[in-house]
Amino acid sequence: MSGERHEFQAETRQLLRLMIHSLYSNKEIFLRELISNASDAVDKLRFTAIQQPDLVSDGAELAVDLIVDAAAGTVTVRDNGIGMSRQEVIDNLGTIARSGTKQFLESLSGEARKDSALIGQFGVGFYSAFIVADKVSVLTRRAGETAAVRWESDGEGAYTLEEAEKPARGTDVVLHLRADEREFLEPMRLKHIVRKYSDHIGLPVRLREVKEGAEGESEVINSARALWTRPKSELSDDDYTAFYTHLSHDPSAPLAWTHQKVEGNLSYTSLLYVPAKAPFDLWNREQRSGLQLYVKRVFIMDDAADLLPPWLRFVRGLVDSDDLPLNVSRELLQNNRTVDKIRAALVKRVLDLLDDLAENKPNDYATFWQAFGAVLKEGVVEDGAQRDRIAKLSRFRSTHDSANASVSLADYVARMPAEQKAIYYITADTLAAAQASPHLEGYRSRGFEVLLLTDRVDEWLVMHLPEFDGKKLESCVSGAADLAPAIETPEQVRQDSEFAPVLERLQQALTGKIEKAQLSRRLVESPACLVAPEHGISRRLERMFREAGQAAPSSQPVLEINPAHPLLARIKDTADAGEFGDLAALLYDQAVLAEGGQLDDPAAFVKRLNSLILGGAPQRSSIIVPG
Ligand code: ADP
Ligand code: MG
Repeated sequence: MSGERHEFQAETRQLLRLMIHSLYSNKEIFLRELISNASDAVDKLRFTAIQQPDLVSDGAELAVDLIVDAAAGTVTVRDNGIGMSRQEVIDNLGTIARSGTKQFLESLSGEARKDSALIGQFGVGFYSAFIVADKVSVLTRRAGETAAVRWESDGEGAYTLEEAEKPARGTDVVLHLRADEREFLEPMRLKHIVRKYSDHIGLPVRLREVKEGAEGESEVINSARALWTRPKSELSDDDYTAFYTHLSHDPSAPLAWTHQKVEGNLSYTSLLYVPAKAPFDLWNREQRSGLQLYVKRVFIMDDAADLLPPWLRFVRGLVDSDDLPLNVSRELLQNNRTVDKIRAALVKRVLDLLDDLAENKPNDYATFWQAFGAVLKEGVVEDGAQRDRIAKLSRFRSTHDSANASVSLADYVARMPAEQKAIYYITADTLAAAQASPHLEGYRSRGFEVLLLTDRVDEWLVMHLPEFDGKKLESCVSGAADLAPAIETPEQVRQDSEFAPVLERLQQALTGKIEKAQLSRRLVESPACLVAPEHGISRRLERMFREAGQAAPSSQPVLEINPAHPLLARIKDTADAGEFGDLAALLYDQAVLAEGGQLDDPAAFVKRLNSLILGGAPQRSSIIVPG
């Protein structure tokens, strides 16, 4: 190699090694990546030429050329797009542009590294050239400049840069194929790959061979029309899937899509996809989301976040508008009436698509829900107008089916026994905690189904969804939702008077910890539980606020006791005030533990428990507890 020598950034070297080894089984994708870069470069040129028309005054057709030279053992991918300046070459081909890539790579297991999703998703597409080439030479000239530069590397840790001559703007990527990769000199093989991955891009891909030093006739080998401009009737599922791969860099096939041309007051074409898998950064707030925006077939920007609300951020695709100005900026997209109207229409479009998927492909819908349900549920909170539609689309685990989040509110309501008044739910950090909650006992014994909610967003969901289909949603953990019968049985009337003094004493003994004590109808096996006061926020939400370091509107819970439990009979008959106090504290602490909470003083709990085990009762005088 001649020219000025530069070392690759360390991560780049590591990435190169990884890529060559792990992607070998899918090596043909190098061509997809290089054509995709060529297509991006042409998009950038078209966009820049809106302001600087002289950049394209040569009138040359914008295209990608594949030039095969069997004698030299090279394939060249040539474009007449924007090109790169010397500094751009260093920045783009010598480093990994996006931070986080390295950490992500390190966090992957060996198996996951085979996933070709890595390529492109992290801006590493260009390096895939080294899967098949032992030397890559890039000759490029930035549009509007006269100087050109040649970059060359064997992919082993360094590259060289030198000044060069190039008659016109654009980039040539010359692949010197490895000896065992000569199959990529076969025109048939190249045509096949281009048709498979790059048929749909809005740019002709032309193939020609060099024979005896001279370039032959070139042949257009793709259909060269932007997919979304073609009528639906011409397009197959494979076409849509291949285009999705190009657009999203997601190697799994999409679950569903909707392609629509709208004409009238507004004119635009939209093509929206629902992916099958969540990207690794779905929960990262800085995650890139949004659609691609085109104006009159010209690519304007990626990640136009204003085209969809945040709760639909999993949707991929594009909008091509005839109404927006070509020089539209991100700032202009905010508070733009045309954009608002398009967004409203797209929201409806996506919800229709999801309705259709839920109805006609329940298995695919389950896959969707598993990946993105928690995001969609944010819409109940954020968009009152769509609340009921999203509620219908929502799926939950419940005591009816706790293995899958497959229960819809409509299913739930259809199963409700006549005497059940409300839709009951419990929120907890884990499924196990929800299922084990003593609060559910009374509902279970009456045959009432309970929704088991474990996503964080569920706390907000239930606050914004007071009812569904005329049925109130009520928490099993709130004072409001006890299962008091309309008319008390004589046995219950007797218990009420029998336990009145105990309730009084418990309240005294636990002053500062509970608001009050009361008899419970929701407990069957457990002696006690804590419930939120009727008008307070849920106890779990309080805990979530506290964990986030925020001031929670804190309230004291209500201690509910189960009069049928032998422990309560025991407490009732305990006259000694000290012993009663210990038993009351134990009752309270175990209720805290049962709801997944933390004890204020675990050591005291352990002492009391041990003395109870040893003495049969916490006989304070006769047992010597160290400390
Ligand atoms: P990505 O395309 O995801 O950004 P790549 O590794 O494929 O990542 O390319 C890295 C960068 O190199 C591109 O973003 C672009 O700036 C530049 N680049 C690559 N190929 C070309 C090309 N043919 N013309 C102009 N710039 C290019
Ligand atoms: Mg790329």
